[in-house]
Amino acid sequence: MSDYGAETPIAVIGGGLAGLSAALDLIDAGKDVLLLERRPFAGGKAWSFDDPNHDVVLDNGQHVTMRCCTEFQSFLERIGCPDIVRYQERLEVAVIDPDSRGHHVSLISSEQPRSLARLGLQLLPAPLHMLPSIVTYEHLSMGEKTRLALAFEPIRRMSELERLALDRQSFETWLLNHHQTSRVIERFWDLIILPTCNDRCRDVSATQAIQVFQEGFSVDPRAADIGLFTRGLGQVAEAALARLRERGAQIELNASVSGIVTRGGEAAAVRYGRGEQADVSAVILALPPRTAFELVPAAWRRREPFWRLSQHEVSPIINVHMKWDRQVMRRDFVAVLDPDAQFIFHRSQIHGWQTPPHWISVSLSGAHDLVDRPQREIVERAERAVRRALRRTAGAQLLATRVVKESEATFRPKPGINAHRVGPRTSIGNLLLAGAWTATGWPATMESAVRSGRAAAQALLEGQAQAT
Ligand SMILES: Cc1cc2nc3c(=O)[nH]c(=O)nc-3n(C[C@H](O)[C@H](O)[C@H](O)COP(=O)(O)OP(=O)(O)OC[C@H]3O[C@@H](n4cnc5c(N)ncnc54)[C@H](O)[C@@H]3O)c2cc1C
Repeated sequence: MSDYGAETPIAVIGGGLAGLSAALDLIDAGKDVLLLERRPFAGGKAWSFDDPNHDVVLDNGQHVTMRCCTEFQSFLERIGCPDIVRYQERLEVAVIDPDSRGHHVSLISSEQPRSLARLGLQLLPAPLHMLPSIVTYEHLSMGEKTRLALAFEPIRRMSELERLALDRQSFETWLLNHHQTSRVIERFWDLIILPTCNDRCRDVSATQAIQVFQEGFSVDPRAADIGLFTRGLGQVAEAALARLRERGAQIELNASVSGIVTRGGEAAAVRYGRGEQADVSAVILALPPRTAFELVPAAWRRREPFWRLSQHEVSPIINVHMKWDRQVMRRDFVAVLDPDAQFIFHRSQIHGWQTPPHWISVSLSGAHDLVDRPQREIVERAERAVRRALRRTAGAQLLATRVVKESEATFRPKPGINAHRVGPRTSIGNLLLAGAWTATGWPATMESAVRSGRAAAQALLEGQAQAT
């Protein structure tokens, strides 16, 4: 039995961003917290590793945030590392079409045309600030760009209730019903939905996809500015653990939880590690949905909301980290209209590593078809796509690669998913749920994870306050 603390602690199971943010709120509310994490490090789906062969720190997968991810940003401030993210001054995404004549690069940007700026005009209100870049986006014809407006306007006007009612429909179906064509979907809508929702429009709930556009492109002109991590992602979890320890939380790493002991219909203790057991006053399960489902005592699994956790599927992300003998790109990142390249990040430049060799990371979302393929094939396809997309690779030598497959990177935001994204409260008063997959309304992001942790902590604190 654990002899930790004066009070019976609240167990937070899972040291991903959801667990870390729940633990932070609880400790700041004066509670005793026991954080249990299976791996030797925290951070969950957002982690880094040393590659000793190449003397470099790599992330499991390239992560970006956006200015609209306000809870994640305030989490970074609370743990003392807000400066780990560098935001663009305004949204700017260079999109490369390797098949177009002249090897075309076109921008999606919220920058105002110079002529307007010279006239001293202020930023246009959202979503009109996107108009100039849509007009100049050269990977669509003029007719196709006109079609975009026919979908943007109903998205802008849609109420929350109307949006929620669309959950059973795929975003592709919704777009086709709103004058979009397969080509427009592939060359514009998928470009945004694939990295944010981790699946293509055809596989994503319309409710989820429209939330992304309303949040990022329709509310605040700066909301979609992209933030890049200037240091390894692992530093976020380290800073959070340091802050939790400083405030008196008990952190157990290498502590895989294997069971929840019940008493009187409530969670009373948790079993973890090599046979350790700790009495607890409450439990927050901050785990992927299926892992959480398997930890719930068998007698409770058929109850609401637990059975819904077993209905979730997963979507993979693959990152191909590449070491080149020279600079092969100029920008921090580019999008590519090629499924084997998708988004390419200039890791060396973003991290301020000046001298060669130069690292870039190819981030492949929704990689269902690729995830079971051999690493050699993945590297060959990615190298071919990068060489086609980036002219500067001509004559350059690819010195090394490192492939990271995250086969369960995120929950799958398929049509109908909202019914299974449940809130933090369960039918067991002292057992709560957190995780990016819960009912935050957001896709599987760091923002969603942090929000879910806060929601679980708040629900628990409210429940405890009512009981006293
Ligand atoms: C490659 C990749 C790229 C991504 N890109 C982005 C991006 O650009 N922007 C963005 O916002 N989001 C991105 N995401 C998503 C984001 O990382 C996740 O949504 C978020 O980190 C999930 O946090 P979580 O705490 O909900 O879950 P998790 O991170 O899954 O945390 C769960 C934790 O529970 C632990 N655990 C599991 N079983 C047990 C057990 N039995 N006992 C104890 N502990 C256990 C796990 O080890 C883990 O630490 C990306 C994810 C991946 C994988």
